[in-house]
Amino acid sequence: MKHIMILGSGFAALTAVRQIRKARLDAKITLVSPNRHLTYLPSLIWMPSGIRKGADLDVDLEQFLARKNVDWHQGRVASVRDGGRTVETEAGEVLTNDFLIVATGGRYLKKLPGLAENGIIPCEGVAMAQAIHDRIASMQGGTIAMGFGTNPKETQAVRGGPMFEFLFGIDTMLRKAGRRDAFKLVFFNGADRPGKRLGEKAVDKLLEEMARRDIDVHIGAKPTRIDADKVVTEREEIPADLVLFMPGLTGPAWLDNTDLPRSSGGFIQADSKCRVVGDDWTGCYVAGDAGSYPGPDWMAKQAHQADLQAKAAVANIADEMAGRAPSHDFKAELVCIVDSLNKGILVFRDHSRSFLLPAMRPAHWAKRIYESLYLRPYRR
Ligand SMILES: Cc1cc2nc3c(=O)[nH]c(=O)nc-3n(C[C@H](O)[C@H](O)[C@H](O)COP(=O)(O)OP(=O)(O)OC[C@H]3O[C@@H](n4cnc5c(N)ncnc54)[C@H](O)[C@@H]3O)c2cc1C
Repeated sequence: MKHIMILGSGFAALTAVRQIRKARLDAKITLVSPNRHLTYLPSLIWMPSGIRKGADLDVDLEQFLARKNVDWHQGRVASVRDGGRTVETEAGEVLTNDFLIVATGGRYLKKLPGLAENGIIPCEGVAMAQAIHDRIASMQGGTIAMGFGTNPKETQAVRGGPMFEFLFGIDTMLRKAGRRDAFKLVFFNGADRPGKRLGEKAVDKLLEEMARRDIDVHIGAKPTRIDADKVVTEREEIPADLVLFMPGLTGPAWLDNTDLPRSSGGFIQADSKCRVVGDDWTGCYVAGDAGSYPGPDWMAKQAHQADLQAKAAVANIADEMAGRAPSHDFKAELVCIVDSLNKGILVFRDHSRSFLLPAMRPAHWAKRIYESLYLRPYRR
């Protein structure tokens, strides 16, 4: 029996577990992660309005892992060596494996001066999303400025979609509560065409939607600082009482302790089969936000893409276990519903098609139903 070790217990990691068992590989699975919970990050956007509470998004994986016969090792990976065969945790434990899947996600670049002290990073988890809810509930009115940055060395490493969702969702929430007149909403972004990976039509739609909702748009000038009462950009100062800012992403910090090959943006460099590149890293795979992969420029750091990469990684491990050369390329696909609390814009892209469906109520409900279907196997 081979021993497959998976680092992380997020989207890519858990999809890998399910695929290994679905493929009936003769394998012992060990999952290494700091806690045995899955946080359903895509629904953080519903926390400011109270549609979701932190507890709704947090799934205890004890039953799921028992059912899938997975050994869970509580710990934080500190280093990987010997071509991936040895994993060291922060507690100093040394773990070995036959195959490794790295799925420890990405990390936010928090270099923007003043961000930590004066802004909220809305995508960091339930505590931050709850903080947005509490802060807006306590405000009598004022200006809320929202924006996102990128990783200048790897421009795909951006989390723009959720920021549009926070923006439109907060607008809808304030309107529903009859409080919108007391607030000014501002969107700021360094790019002239924010959200470009979703497609040119999507950018037009998003900007139209901002105009329709009376949201002030400040684009084409990079933010340089967040102060207690303003956002400072290369061009201007934007007064703000509350700033929500989503920085670009880079690879996890523990990579600094390894010789793993890195992309220019700081992620683990993988090939189209999700293998860590280089002859020294045989049997070592990466899936999800921790990796940098070849693919179209619109390819996103998304849970959906993480799942597709985890599937490819497992199919290739199956090839290796059967004595074959890995033969499965991951599929590049972008599926995104930009939700606004009661409607959603659907964006789809793959190699052959690209389309957008304008804001519709069913898309909002589709996103809610998808959440419940996605979490069902983990909640059972
Ligand atoms: C607000 C928001 C909305 C989003 N909306 C969507 C959406 O609508 N659709 C979509 O497809 N995607 C969406 N995403 C993106 C999606 O959540 C991520 O792309 C996805 O979580 C990436 O999965 P992952 O498995 O690579 O990493 P993660 O899900 O981040 O999981 C990483 C795992 O690694 C663990 N870990 C971290 N460090 C270590 C360590 N040192 N050792 C061991 N384990 C470690 C973590 O605890 C976690 O279990 C959204 C994200 C946010 C924040």
